[in-house]
Amino acid sequence: MEESNVARSVLVTGGNRGIGLAIARRFAEQGDSVAVTHRGAPVPDGLLGVTCDVTDSEQVDAAFTEIEETHGPVEILVSNAGITDDSLLLRMSEEQFSRVLDANLTGSFRVAKRATRGMLRKRWGRLVFISSEVGLSGGAGQANYAASKAGLVGFARSLARELGSRNITANVISPGFVATGMTAVLPDERKRDILRQVPLGRGADTTEIAAAATFLASGAAAYITGAVLPVDGGLGMGH
Ligand code: NDP
Repeated sequence: MEESNVARSVLVTGGNRGIGLAIARRFAEQGDSVAVTHRGAPVPDGLLGVTCDVTDSEQVDAAFTEIEETHGPVEILVSNAGITDDSLLLRMSEEQFSRVLDANLTGSFRVAKRATRGMLRKRWGRLVFISSEVGLSGGAGQANYAASKAGLVGFARSLARELGSRNITANVISPGFVATGMTAVLPDERKRDILRQVPLGRGADTTEIAAAATFLASGAAAYITGAVLPVDGGLGMGH
């Protein structure tokens, strides 16, 4: 089992708030050098904030260059940035569909591709993609979001096959309901509906998603790749 006391260079996209911030904090608490992307929002002390919209390849490239100069090449990438834009299919515009795919799926492609350059040189890397239980079970009004999150599974598993021989793993975390800015906009009745279906009877704390991310990047998970790890209180069992 590989375990290192050396601080690793970690990037969490969308790490300025919500689940991403909890993940970034947990890596930082372990002693890693952690960068987070932001789009102008303040970034908490102890984290390196890099301006980056994941829908813009040039901004992605510039963010990685800045991290390389400060912390060294990214060794652990957590692709977490994501959006929703819910609408029933008949009312969903093509723009609404494409925008969510561009941020959630193509955004992950952009950052993973850029991160892999340094990982291949180092012959070590950890790619962690934050998908969603909705990606596997579907969600009424969330065809764009569910498609983007399901896409991450095929994407990560392809990378697991391409990059495994270079000691680069690619895994997916599939959270259930987590109280963040993303879910705060849901009507209370919808939140109650979701929580009623969770065997553990509650939503996740952001730190519980963070624990899964640091595990997948740890030496203990060195032989895990192409996995989809549900952190959903049992919500998605069977998917
Ligand atoms: P939040 O809305 O709280 O945070 C989303 C984060 O993503 C923000 O940091 C936001 O940046 C960033 N972001 C969005 N679009 C872009 C972009 N184009 N470029 C760069 N950053 C961007 O959401 P959560 O913390 O809840 O979600 C984090 C991830 O977890 C998402 O991928 C989400 O789909 C997933 N997830 C969440 C669940 C939940 O119940 N909350 C359940 C399952 C999965 P900014 O501050 O600039 O807007």
